[in-house]
Amino acid sequence: MASQHKVLVVGGGISGMTLAHGLARAGMDARVVESGHRMDQQGTGISLLGNALRALDRVGLADSCMAAGSGWDTVSVRNDAGEIVNERRPPRIFRPDAPGAIGIMRPKLAEVLEGQALASGARIDYRTTVEDIEQDGNGVSYRLSTGETGRCDLLVAADGTYSKTRCKVFGGEYQPAYAGQGAWRFTVERPAEFDGLVLYKHRDGRAVGGLPLSDKLCYYFFLENAKVHAHMPQDRLSEMFRERLEGFSAPDLLAAIGRCDGTRYISYRPFDILFMPQPWHRGRVVLVGDAAHSVTPQLTSGGGMAIEDAVVLIEELSQRTSIDDALVAYGQRRGERVKRVFDISLAICQAEQDPHADGRRAVELLFEGYGVLAQPF
Ligand SMILES: Cc1cc2nc3c(=O)[nH]c(=O)nc-3n(C[C@H](O)[C@H](O)[C@H](O)COP(=O)(O)OP(=O)(O)OC[C@H]3O[C@@H](n4cnc5c(N)ncnc54)[C@H](O)[C@@H]3O)c2cc1C
Repeated sequence: MASQHKVLVVGGGISGMTLAHGLARAGMDARVVESGHRMDQQGTGISLLGNALRALDRVGLADSCMAAGSGWDTVSVRNDAGEIVNERRPPRIFRPDAPGAIGIMRPKLAEVLEGQALASGARIDYRTTVEDIEQDGNGVSYRLSTGETGRCDLLVAADGTYSKTRCKVFGGEYQPAYAGQGAWRFTVERPAEFDGLVLYKHRDGRAVGGLPLSDKLCYYFFLENAKVHAHMPQDRLSEMFRERLEGFSAPDLLAAIGRCDGTRYISYRPFDILFMPQPWHRGRVVLVGDAAHSVTPQLTSGGGMAIEDAVVLIEELSQRTSIDDALVAYGQRRGERVKRVFDISLAICQAEQDPHADGRRAVELLFEGYGVLAQPF
């Protein structure tokens, strides 16, 4: 019989919802408090590689995520005119008959995870957070922003890079650091011939990429090296994005840029990184996902690592009677693997910022990273 732990999950993002679903499915009492509104989801997309699909499958979520997204299987490096320079396939980590990765709109992914978590019996409270936490050897007493007080056996901090829960429990000295780069992301109609990760490299060193997200949509991203942690003016984002892509002449890219007219979703976000030292738990409070490790997105694996964290924690809590033993085992299974993914992602980010680096180095590191991700977790 599965353990009947009562678990409070702070944060209803990718890790929090996966965790709540899996814990409830394993017979535990799982509740999520999420500070945002149910519809607070960005209009951009995310790529889930085969390792993320493999992890989702262990908690019964892979098929519904795949059905809501769009599979892709190639990494195509092109010049600024769109001619293919190099094309490779990422490994099919999940199943030989499933694509190497999927792209999916973030709101769609959130809808799938929320729906599955609710169907499994988890409770989700939006516009709610945790104000106070006090723990003893057997659990955590908490007070929510609604004034409600309660007690749980385990409290999970799934509240992202700027986790307030981490600050409260681990101290304010663990703060994200700026990685010297940020991403422009632009969601637009998908060109018919667009069926994988496409990277257009300009001879002056700039690169722009694109990924399918559904039958109809794709997104383009442009990574900008910037000394300062900038927040760009919202009303000028489209114009600034177009300026940055001047000189690329690939026809599909030109058509997409032409539609970047202020009427569609566009964003700029600087990369803040963090890797928490082990252990990732203090007493009965444990960190998962970006709250424990925020990686740069070059390997498109922050979400995949968050999903794997959730799955490992579900497995350890389900298989062991002692929560304390489960938390130690969780940290042991995750620490080294996530550090390798963090390091490779950062190495690509740094290679992209090095004016003397050979452009091929980033692609080699990308495939080295895919090799790490393919290993069992
Ligand atoms: C530009 C960019 C592109 C990326 N692309 C990819 C990609 O293609 N593939 C990939 O796998 N990863 C990608 N990532 C990384 C990925 O988005 C994150 O790793 C992932 O979202 C982490 O999930 P999480 O659940 O840990 O945190 P989050 O998704 O950040 O969720 C945290 C949740 O906690 C809530 N919250 C915050 N504070 C509180 C509080 N005090 N109380 C209650 N709730 C709170 C937030 O509202 C949020 O819903 C990208 C990241 C960036 C910046």
